[in-house]
Amino acid sequence: MHEEPSAPARTTAPHPTSCPAPPPAGHSATTTERGSFCLARCTCGWVGPARRSRDRARADAAEHLAAS
Ligand SMILES: [Zn+2]
Repeated sequence: MHEEPSAPARTTAPHPTSCPAPPPAGHSATTTERGSFCLARCTCGWVGPARRSRDRARADAAEHLAAS
């Protein structure tokens, strides 16, 4: 009986090296400008109150990072 060669089996690589590692659990706060306001936001989803000055927003971010 004639057997057709099956498709080459896929080599199962353990893990692609191009896959980026997940970001380390933690917080990374930045300040964003919204109109004439500035507010702090974090990678964890936290968003600070809108401030009129960027320094205040930055202080909020620092406070959040310190509290976490
Ligand atoms: Zn955070």
